[in-house]
Amino acid sequence: QSEELERLRALLPGWVKTSKTMCQAGKVASYIPELSKAPADALGIHVIDFSGNSVTAGDCGLSFTMQSISKVFTLLLALIDRGPEIVFDKVGMEPTGDNFNSMLKLELVQPSIPFNPLINAGAIAISSLIGGDGPEEKSERVLRFFRRLAGNPELAYDLDVYRSEALSADLNRSMAYFLKDKGVLKGKVDDVLDVYFRHCSIAVTCSDLSRMALVLANDGTDPLSGEVLIPRRYVQIAKTFMVTCGMYNASGQFAIEVGLPAKSGVAGGILTLVPGRYGIGIVGPSLNPKGNSIAGVHLLETLSQSLDWSLF
Ligand code: GLU
Repeated sequence: QSEELERLRALLPGWVKTSKTMCQAGKVASYIPELSKAPADALGIHVIDFSGNSVTAGDCGLSFTMQSISKVFTLLLALIDRGPEIVFDKVGMEPTGDNFNSMLKLELVQPSIPFNPLINAGAIAISSLIGGDGPEEKSERVLRFFRRLAGNPELAYDLDVYRSEALSADLNRSMAYFLKDKGVLKGKVDDVLDVYFRHCSIAVTCSDLSRMALVLANDGTDPLSGEVLIPRRYVQIAKTFMVTCGMYNASGQFAIEVGLPAKSGVAGGILTLVPGRYGIGIVGPSLNPKGNSIAGVHLLETLSQSLDWSLF
């Protein structure tokens, strides 16, 4: 076990405690009603290295839904299923600077494709590219892929969150219809949205996220089993999107303050990694105005700056 991990084991509980005080300055997401039930003062972290040694601190037993974090992995599955040419015919490669659910720029580029696969419109387009016959088979393939990456055959949907999102998704629905009109989506809008709602509602813990991140930290090969799960080139694409668009329209600031590829979700999760070294999962449901875990971002700033983790 590395010296750094030992240091982390000693320091993390104190850092988590300090970052936790940030929680009260944020807000738990409530536009999906079920998400508002999450504990506002929770903060947990799980760090795992390439030998499987791990350090945890805070509320890491908390189960939460992946939400936007899942978009990184559906992008990867779509790349595996269809290849980059087809995928990037339907979504772009640029950050928007707008909110994750904004429709503002949808009409700005010609042809009318979403700016990137990590905003809602882009991720909905990606859902339609997942291989499989109908929405059930597509969702089943997504779940199987996620289970394999997390090394957890028990990963499952949080059906309460799934239903809650499906019932409150007018904005996502309108985007999907727009994309259908522009020829970006094929098939039934409801079927595509069902795949999207389902992957957003996959329930995880920090430990699951850290295992998924570990595979990305090792360029697609599970360092614990030696199994190649994702081609290296696709992981490179996903990690680049995580740097440019992973933390919503705070991705620039996060790149400056933390300097690691990361993806957050509105349930308060953050998946991040130190390339070649660690996979990291964080949860802190209280969000800052940009939609990122307020305490989670603070904790990552402390970690990265204290341990000199920035890639830049
Ligand atoms: N399922 C959420 C939505 O579509 C994901 C948003 C997020 O985590 O950014 O609004």
